[in-house]
Amino acid sequence: MASWEFTITGCGTSHGNPMWGVPDWWSTDPRDRRRRSGAFLRGPEGQIVLFDCGPDLAHQMTDPYRDWDGRSYPARCLTRCDAVLLTHDHADHCHGINELRHVQRLMRGADITLYGWEPHLASVRAMFPYCFGAGLDTYRMSKPTLRTAELADGQKHIIAQLPVIPFAMSHGSAGRTTGFRCGTMAYCTDLKELPRDCDPLLADLDLLALGVLRDELHPTHQNWDEAQAVLARLRPRRCVLMHMGPEVRYADWLARLPPGVELAVDGWTTRIAA
Ligand SMILES: [Zn+2]
Ligand SMILES: [Zn+2]
Repeated sequence: MASWEFTITGCGTSHGNPMWGVPDWWSTDPRDRRRRSGAFLRGPEGQIVLFDCGPDLAHQMTDPYRDWDGRSYPARCLTRCDAVLLTHDHADHCHGINELRHVQRLMRGADITLYGWEPHLASVRAMFPYCFGAGLDTYRMSKPTLRTAELADGQKHIIAQLPVIPFAMSHGSAGRTTGFRCGTMAYCTDLKELPRDCDPLLADLDLLALGVLRDELHPTHQNWDEAQAVLARLRPRRCVLMHMGPEVRYADWLARLPPGVELAVDGWTTRIAA
């Protein structure tokens, strides 16, 4: 196994946090300032495998660790993308797809493929037809020219040297999302329920990146209690909670975290084996 860096570039729910126009939900704590969902794995040869390509992607690639001063050259920016693992087709997970155009320019036109469940890939192709298909070389500089590739659930795939096992999760009334096991970690965002047949695939995890929205129940996302039940079932050695709603105050939740469980901030980073 090789050592990979895993970084969460956006840990907020679909509208980002805190929300403008709702003064009561505002927070002055910088740890409550969350971009829309995004993360990446960086491999030993510099490979960058993105989880999703949400609407904040340009900011996430410019300033992945959220430590840039906004004036000097952003020395820690990401300048390549070897693959995108698509969890699903919701706007907060794929509406930054056009930003891959600039990444492709930086990579001198190298191919970028989105991997995922075929109905999600078809949905993205239908929403953004200009990013796919005909004109693959003609318009390199004016639009992204992307490919899609279907992944079979439960099967091990090697993508940019990363071992990836996709699996189906329930997004409640919103349908299905795809979770990914990558070596000793798993990335599970936007889930209401984790089907029991996932448990063997998620045994013996060093790190589980797990979506949780808030305390109150929600039709499409896990709340705190539901996430704790998943943790009790899977018992990962470490867990980082992400995709939080504006109701979640970092300082409040910090006090309640069980041992081994952390709360993400944008730029949360660690190393895993894969
Ligand atoms: Zn989401
Ligand atoms: Zn979603």
